Amino acid sequence: MSKRMQEEIEAAERDLLHTYNRFPVIFDRGEGTDLYDIDGKQYLDFFSGIGVFALGQGNKELNEAMKGQIDKLMHTSNYFYNEPAIRAARRLKEVSGMDRVFFTNSGAEAIEGALKAARKYAFLRDSHTDHEIIAMENSFHGRTMGALAVTGKKAYREPFEPLIGNIRFAAYGDMESVRGQLSDRTCAILLETVQGEGGIHPASEAFLKELRALCDERDILLILDEIQCGMGRTGDMFAWQAYGVKPDIMTTAKALGCGVPVGAFLLSGKAAEHSLVAGDHGTTYGGNPFVCAAIDKVLEIYEKDDIIGHVREVAPYLKERLEQVAAGRSDVLELRGKGLMLGMEFDHPVGEILNRCLENGLVLINAGANILRFLPPLIIGRKEIDEMVEILARSLD
Ligand SMILES: *Cc1c(COP(=O)(O)O)cnc(C)c1O
Repeated sequence: MSKRMQEEIEAAERDLLHTYNRFPVIFDRGEGTDLYDIDGKQYLDFFSGIGVFALGQGNKELNEAMKGQIDKLMHTSNYFYNEPAIRAARRLKEVSGMDRVFFTNSGAEAIEGALKAARKYAFLRDSHTDHEIIAMENSFHGRTMGALAVTGKKAYREPFEPLIGNIRFAAYGDMESVRGQLSDRTCAILLETVQGEGGIHPASEAFLKELRALCDERDILLILDEIQCGMGRTGDMFAWQAYGVKPDIMTTAKALGCGVPVGAFLLSGKAAEHSLVAGDHGTTYGGNPFVCAAIDKVLEIYEKDDIIGHVREVAPYLKERLEQVAAGRSDVLELRGKGLMLGMEFDHPVGEILNRCLENGLVLINAGANILRFLPPLIIGRKEIDEMVEILARSLD
């Protein structure tokens, strides 16, 4: 590492609030599936900024669209209409089949909005103010007070309590456990279609279908968090689309803006008709022309370049190659996931492996202490997969 990088990292550790144990690298620029640090060293990116950079770094079309919008109009306010937001909402409805969209600045804010919509829906029905939400153990929904309240990891929540109340946790994948948390005040059930931070656990089809049936029977809203697993990552635009169930509310963010900070919650049917109205919710930045130009262009590129088709074609190859890696090792417990969202679970912490990967020019991250997480840009090809496997194998030994 150069002296300059060393000094800048020291400055960062002095000036930034230490809420992350960062890897010792400063990235300077990116190109497709590659990143370069400020010393000029090249890295293959199999993390894409927590699944944000679905289209890779430096997508020319997206960059040009953003530059054009910067010169034209960056912000007005939600007191007015803007064309990029109108186009982005239309596209998002098309690819999701949902009915209404609210744009936010982040994933956590999308969760906040979804929680408010669910409570409002129940409030309109019975005027009670004691509604409960069932969330899942091992889940992750963000760091704001509401999103944290439904995040199924006690260590994240406890120092900040009291959070919003009336949240109950059930075991992911376990209907018995969900039924055990149910009451006549339950207004929503919230889960990630594929748990991300919790270790890459896809919901089973039976679980999602039974949740849907339960929600229908009791007039409970089903909220699916697609912030990490959505936007094509699993081989469908949204992971739930492969299950034959539809949520009442869904959240998206991360790859939605491919680097531009945006999120959204979308509502369908009764939730869209009977929940938030004027005065109930708002945001200064959310859905401004600058960020919506990104969403509009990202979704246009997805369609034009058939990103979903590409994921479906390339994902089995990634799985096959990782299975080969796993087969040769006694310390790998499981390889699981969907599409280009895979986790490799070891019987020991993977921190050392991650450091060696980085040294060898591969950006990877964990999901829980023992699990390597693979979230490459969706545009990767076989060549990059081969390259990654070669570096990984070298870093594992
Ligand atoms: C990242 C993430 C969030 C939070 O998104 P932020 O943009 O960091 O607030 C919520 N849910 C899931 C599943 C996530 O992966």
